[in-house]
Amino acid sequence: MNVIMKFGGTSVADAEAMDRVIAIVRGQLAASEPSKPPVVVVSAMSKVTDRLIESARLAAEGSGEESARILNDLLQRHVGVAKALVTGDRLPPLLAQLTSEFSALLETARTLARHREVSPSSHDAIVAMGELASSQIVAAAFASKGVPSVWIDARTVLVTDDEYTAALPDMEATCRRTRDLVGAQRAAGQVAVLGGFIGATAAGVTTTLGRGGSDYSAAVFGACLDVEEIQIWTDVDGMLTADPRVVDAPRLVPQLSFAEASELAYFGAKVLHPSTILPAVAKNIPVRILNSRRPDVAGTMITANGRAHDGLTALACKRGVTVDITSMRMLMAHGFLRRLFEVFERFKTPVDVVTTSEVSVSVTVDNPRRLDDILGNLRNFAEVACEPQMAIVCIVGENLRADPTLFARAVSSLERIPLRLVSQAASRRNITFVLRDSDVPEAMGRLHAAFF
Ligand code: ASP
Ligand code: MG
Repeated sequence: MNVIMKFGGTSVADAEAMDRVIAIVRGQLAASEPSKPPVVVVSAMSKVTDRLIESARLAAEGSGEESARILNDLLQRHVGVAKALVTGDRLPPLLAQLTSEFSALLETARTLARHREVSPSSHDAIVAMGELASSQIVAAAFASKGVPSVWIDARTVLVTDDEYTAALPDMEATCRRTRDLVGAQRAAGQVAVLGGFIGATAAGVTTTLGRGGSDYSAAVFGACLDVEEIQIWTDVDGMLTADPRVVDAPRLVPQLSFAEASELAYFGAKVLHPSTILPAVAKNIPVRILNSRRPDVAGTMITANGRAHDGLTALACKRGVTVDITSMRMLMAHGFLRRLFEVFERFKTPVDVVTTSEVSVSVTVDNPRRLDDILGNLRNFAEVACEPQMAIVCIVGENLRADPTLFARAVSSLERIPLRLVSQAASRRNITFVLRDSDVPEAMGRLHAAFF
C-alpha cells in the first residue's frame, strides 16, 4: 500500500522508541510496491519543542547563558540517541552535523539575548531544530539498520507564507516540490524521511506550522503524493468510545467521520487536532491513528464519511467548569438574543451550548473568568439565574441523523438523572445534555452500557 507514516514525539522519544519505529517501517516497506516505499514524517523527540520554546523565551529575557544551557543539554540528548542507533561511517558526519547546527543556534541565542529580543522568525529558527535533529537521526538510523533511506530537509519541500509560528502551506508550490523531490527518491526505492512541523517561505526563511504541526505536514505531503492512507503513529491505540477517566474499559472506535472527530476534539479527545488533517480528508484520503507501542492494534480510521454501522460512534463529556445561565423576559421581544450575545462578546467569553424557548434562553460557558461581569451586565435587561458545577455530556454519531430511536434510547438510559438542557445541532450528528457535574460518572456509565 502507498502510505505516509507520521511518528509523533513519544514514538521517537529515545533510542528504544526509534528502534520500534524502524521495525514498523521495515514491515510497511516489505508490504509496499518497490516504487512506492513509505514516506516517513517525524516530530521532534518528546518534550524537545517545549524546551526549545523555553530557550527562546530565556533569550528574549536576556538570559543568554541559561538559554544556551538548554540547547547544549538538547545537543547531548540527541548525540546520545544517535550513538545508540547509528553505526559505522554514518555516525561521525551525523554527530558533526548535529553539533554544528546546535552550536550555530547557541550563538544565535546568545546574540538574541544581548538584544533581549526574539523576533517570530528567530523563534521559528530555534524551534525548528527539534524536527531537523530528530529526522536526521531517524534517517541515519534507518540506513544503519538496512532500511534504504534518505533525509530530505522539509524546508526545501514545504513552502509556506511568512506567518511565523503559525505558517500556512502553499499547497500548489509544496505539491510541486513534494512530487519532484520526494517522488524522485521514492521512485529510486528510498524511504524519504522528513521533519514535520517545519517549512520555509518562498525566499527560504524557516517557518513552523504551529503546535502539533507535524500531523499537518503529514496530511499535506500525503495529499500531494495521493497516498492511500496517512498513518499517525502515537502512544495510544486510537480514539475511544469514552474518556477512560470517566468510564471503565471504553472500547476502541474503529472508524469515524472527520466531522465526528471534530465534534470529539472539543471535548479534549486530543489524539490529533482534526483541522490539521483537513488537506487529507479534503482529498478523501483516510487517516489512521496507530500505537507505535502496540503496532498490531488496528487503530482508528478517520475518513470523510465514516462507516456504516448501527448505534453511536462515541460519547464525550466536559466536566466541572460549565456554568448554566438562564435568562427570562424574552417573550415577544425582538433583539433580545443579540443583546445577550453582545454581553458575552464584550467579555470575550465563548458560548458553547445554547437552548432557547419562546420565553427563556440557556447557555453554557466553560471559562467562568469574566462571569461576574457578564452576569452584572445581563441583569440590566434580563432575569438571570446561574448554576455552577454543571457538565456537558454529549453523544456523537452520524447515525443520529437517520435513526431517531437513538435519542430515545439515550434519554431513557439516563432514567432519573435530571437534565438541565438538551441540544441537538442542525448537523444532527451530536446531541448534547447539560447536567450536574456530580451526575456525570453515572450518566456516562449508563450511556456507555446502553450503547457499547
Ligand atoms: N514538535 C511540534 C510540537 O511539539 C510539532 C509536533 O509534534 O507535531 O508541537
Ligand atoms: Mg502531536
